[in-house]
Amino acid sequence: MAQSIGFIGLGIMGQPMALNLLKAGYAVTVFNRTQSKAKPLEQKGARVAASPAEAARDADFVMTIVSDSAAMEEVVLGRKGVLETLRPGAVLIDSSTISPVVSRKLACHVAGKSAEMLDAPVTGSKHGAEKGELTFMVGGERRTFDRVMPILQVLGKKHIYCGLHGAGSSAKLAQNAIQATTLEIFCEGFVLATKAGVKPEAMFEIIQSSLARASLTDFKAPFIFKGDFTTYFPLKWMHKDLELAMEAAYAQGVAMPATAAVKEVYGAAKAKEGRGDQDYAAVITFLEEIAGVRVRTGGAAASA
Ligand code: NAP
Repeated sequence: MAQSIGFIGLGIMGQPMALNLLKAGYAVTVFNRTQSKAKPLEQKGARVAASPAEAARDADFVMTIVSDSAAMEEVVLGRKGVLETLRPGAVLIDSSTISPVVSRKLACHVAGKSAEMLDAPVTGSKHGAEKGELTFMVGGERRTFDRVMPILQVLGKKHIYCGLHGAGSSAKLAQNAIQATTLEIFCEGFVLATKAGVKPEAMFEIIQSSLARASLTDFKAPFIFKGDFTTYFPLKWMHKDLELAMEAAYAQGVAMPATAAVKEVYGAAKAKEGRGDQDYAAVITFLEEIAGVRVRTGGAAASA
């Protein structure tokens, strides 16, 4: 009989991940707070649960990918939450980006049910989720990591064991601090160059010929230059991750001054109605508004 997976959170990432598990032959029961988002998966053969508890009831594995720490606590510890029905021996795999402190706390609750938990956040965005090419960074017991490897292999192409509970979440916060800062500084530089009359095409050629080149900005630049901020990773979640990185920095006694500054930029950018739901590359529009220019290709440097 196919192993069963309860899958909770059918947002940008969860939707294609659950679909890939169905395609791989797992018996998948899905739950999403907004129930309409479960429809496409129901049509592909998923069973739909009315609560996280129902999704977890018969599951060998429960996978979660929800927005933040509060959502994850609600899904696991709340009324009709996973903990009410989680079976002894089951594994809860959490791919949400949340606080490492909350990851460890939830792992303790799960252990109290004689089950196991892994914090297993991901990188690779919507494309990686669709293609089953995510990178997983995992915290928890090594033997649990080995046990869930067949599932992780359906969803991703790289699986990196980081250490005990919370280590996966910590790695994810470090990665997003680097990623958010890299993109923001790219945007700052391009706004400066554009304001000074240098065309984005010329500036891009310079960056691509220099050591400042990065695969992240190679990917994002064409979208930025078209003003296309279709959401792959919402700006509001990048801001959330920077907040978590700063909390982690404080807890660990680490200085992250650049991250602190960049966090404020994403926070200010998010304040404009609708921008938090756009891709995080829309952070450039905040900088453009201050400078009074737009970084767009196909013409002279435009005024904002
Ligand atoms: P999303 O599209 O906004 O989806 C968020 C999901 O969380 C939705 O299913 C939402 O349900 C659910 N949720 C929120 N609050 C909840 C609550 N209180 N109870 C139950 N469910 C709740 O976000 P996403 O882009 O898929 O990201 C999900 C997680 O993955 C986040 O932690 C994010 O940081 C991380 N991540 C995202 C990416 C990316 O590129 N998008 C990449 C790596 C990691 P509703 O549908 O009802 O709102």
